[in-house]
Amino acid sequence: MTHDNTFLTDAQREQLRAQLEARKEQLLQELNAAQRDNLSLLPSRGDAAHPDDRKEHSEDMFFNTVRDAEASRDHDELVAVRAALERIADGSYGECLDCGQGVGLARLQAQPQALRCVGCQSKAETRLK
Ligand SMILES: [Zn+2]
Repeated sequence: MTHDNTFLTDAQREQLRAQLEARKEQLLQELNAAQRDNLSLLPSRGDAAHPDDRKEHSEDMFFNTVRDAEASRDHDELVAVRAALERIADGSYGECLDCGQGVGLARLQAQPQALRCVGCQSKAETRLK
């Protein structure tokens, strides 16, 4: 017997791939929208150097920092989603990056971009701390 229960069927993999593609589209749209908003915040008038504009500046900076944090989270997720799609393409999707065992269908359905099984993921997170 091979490890049937650790790897995905074609139908399951296809379903997760569709989920990842949809998520990728959503993230791209969010990132595009964030970029557009940032551009519209830029001063468009010729009097941008006017001293009165300066007191508004710190609020804008704060606003942008919050936005950037969201955008960078979206960006990180997009990178992970793309990596998962590549792993589907090269056939390594669903295998734990560290131990090579199946990541598990339930875990992948909850988090299709997961690269590791639950055990290795928590070890990896401990290492990062
Ligand atoms: Zn593992």
